[in-house]
Amino acid sequence: MKNIETFLSHDGKKAHSKGAVVPPIYQNSLFTMKDWDDIDKAFDDRTNNYIYSRGNNPSAKIVEEKLAMICGGDTAKLFASGMGAVSAVMLSCIEKGSHVVTIKNIYGPANNILQSYFKPKFGIEITYISGTDISEFEKAIQPNTTLIYLESPSSVILSLQDLKAVATLAKKHNIKTAIDNTWASPLFQQPLKLGIDFEIHSCSKYIGGHSDVVAGLVVGAKSDMEILFTKEFELFGAKIAPFEAWLLLRSLRTLKIRMDQHQKSGLAVADFLEKHPKIAKVNFPGLKSFPQYELAKQQMSGTTGLMSFQLKTTELEKVKTFFNGLELFQIGVSWGGHESLIYAPAISYLKELNAAQFEGLGISLGDMRISVGLEAAEDLIADLAQSLDKI
Ligand SMILES: *Cc1c(COP(=O)(O)O)cnc(C)c1O
Repeated sequence: MKNIETFLSHDGKKAHSKGAVVPPIYQNSLFTMKDWDDIDKAFDDRTNNYIYSRGNNPSAKIVEEKLAMICGGDTAKLFASGMGAVSAVMLSCIEKGSHVVTIKNIYGPANNILQSYFKPKFGIEITYISGTDISEFEKAIQPNTTLIYLESPSSVILSLQDLKAVATLAKKHNIKTAIDNTWASPLFQQPLKLGIDFEIHSCSKYIGGHSDVVAGLVVGAKSDMEILFTKEFELFGAKIAPFEAWLLLRSLRTLKIRMDQHQKSGLAVADFLEKHPKIAKVNFPGLKSFPQYELAKQQMSGTTGLMSFQLKTTELEKVKTFFNGLELFQIGVSWGGHESLIYAPAISYLKELNAAQFEGLGISLGDMRISVGLEAAEDLIADLAQSLDKI
């Protein structure tokens, strides 16, 4: 099989019992064994054998194998959520007193767990950088640095890090690297091939794609994943449920055509927004005007449907009129599903920061985040246009 979509839609001829074209859901907590020796032997290789569903389950395994393959890694494990995956990787790579280098615009809860949990509980130190220049990473590294945690493109402003350069630098210093690769999906960016150690996804976004699953994924080399399996995966127990895994297998069948559509519509919408007189700025790595467009082209093979833009107005009433005036874009958190969504980062930030503080983060009252879904791009553009006309 040469092409990803063939591999994703096919499990092999008669792969499943009785010729079922879709595998059953293995809704079981344990696996029974023939005799003493059989169960004794199973324990000798607990990372690969079916013993208890907190470790391995066939409904999860079939999806994990497909995901490992498309990410270009040895081993994949599915978690109950993206944050289950994020926290497992962080725990695997830090010790008491570790130093972590990360970027300013990582996903909020990923920053929150570092700041409000690992820092006070384990005494870890954290250095934040913009991540756009490799020299920032060089300067940030300390003797106790054990993890460089990346997200490229990052949340809200979609800034990139040079993955190959960071991986090379980290290897020289014997530091583990991890990336949240949710934005690009495994189809448009393959960080493991560039030397990154751990690839993380929230499967609640593009991999799931139907807004009906919350799940997470970690992919890495066999040696790293064996440690993560026996420690953070099995002991913390944030494993995916068989039904959720089965839904993800359903999702993988269409991953390629969905991502191609998100890419096409995302580019059309970004292009429309960029030219609109009421828009100040669009943050989207697929636009030629994006400051890191060349790096985006170099390390990603495509772009998706999540972007942010800034309205010229920062008058709260007008911002709200635009936000509430959309008919196809629904209001909600999350992204990456079939449905188009809008969210305004200021809704979160206004609760925690004053206006000057959040301007310091490069965010304004007029900032909008949209997830372009699978509706016709033409209809989405018409919806944005009619609501922009109201302000
Ligand atoms: C949603 C999200 C997560 C967390 O995933 P959950 O499945 O919601 O736990 C992590 N990283 C990014 C970039 C996300 O958008």
